[in-house]
Amino acid sequence: MAGSPHEGLAARNEEPVSDEKPPLLVVKLGGAEGLDIDGACADLADLARPPIRTVVVHGGSADATALGEALGRPARMLTSPSGFVWRYTDRAALETFTMAVNGKRNTLLVERLQAHGVNALGLCGLDGRLMIAAHKTAVQSVEGGRRRVIRDDFTGKVERVNDGLLWLLLEADYLPVIAPLALSTDGFAVNVDADRAAAKIAAALEADTLLLLTAAPGLLSAFPDQATLIADLPRGRLDEAMEFAQGRMKKKILGAREALAGGVGRVIIADGRRPRPISDALAGMGTTIQ
Ligand code: ADP
Repeated sequence: MAGSPHEGLAARNEEPVSDEKPPLLVVKLGGAEGLDIDGACADLADLARPPIRTVVVHGGSADATALGEALGRPARMLTSPSGFVWRYTDRAALETFTMAVNGKRNTLLVERLQAHGVNALGLCGLDGRLMIAAHKTAVQSVEGGRRRVIRDDFTGKVERVNDGLLWLLLEADYLPVIAPLALSTDGFAVNVDADRAAAKIAAALEADTLLLLTAAPGLLSAFPDQATLIADLPRGRLDEAMEFAQGRMKKKILGAREALAGGVGRVIIADGRRPRPISDALAGMGTTIQ
């Protein structure tokens, strides 16, 4: 993965021609604090070498919250009637999100990967129309037991992924690093959920594995009791998992369901705080859903 993409192309030309699809891994790095980002990048340097293709999708919630506070624009979290919590993203919050997540988090991830010799290339869903999303122009939130309709929110749901662009980068031996912003069908930048964006990307690429790294050992049946880690979750029990997943963990379960329905081989939810988080997850630590 090191060096220029042209070196990679030259090397590939000498490889025997094969119709087999190369193994593909999509890794989502959570945006909460505590993840061992440098460890994950070191792991990727060892693991993500041709013929294995890898795409990284990242969050940035902690960065966006910290920057919002520094700018005097603290984050406002809203809860939907069905219990999902999301970041209220008016135009000012969208700008903050862009600066923190696409600006800082994405660039620093590319920095770490490059430092480990991985030819990472940072982009967000707007670049080359990588992710097209439906803009949620009227969303309901529940505050103090009362429902409100929010109309100035720049949040979206990914509907289409430009997999051709990703294959172009992967075939040229770049490792795409994707920030969770998309282009809405009505022409705006929208904040999208990174777990579900990663799921859509994994499905579009027919990835073998979608790995969701977070600040928990995996899926716990009695959160926060770490002794209740579920090692293997059959796909048929995902509905049940929605009951014991709390807060944003529900998004990971939804993402897992969407990825598997879209043809992804398996989804792993694992601990991103470990020094070698990707190798450990692929070796069976965490929760494997298939
Ligand atoms: P990220 O930034 O990695 O996307 P979040 O912090 O938004 O993740 O959501 C993951 C968090 O969800 C975990 O760190 C954990 O605190 C919480 N959580 C809620 N329910 C569960 C559960 N059943 N098992 C494990 N973690 C859970």
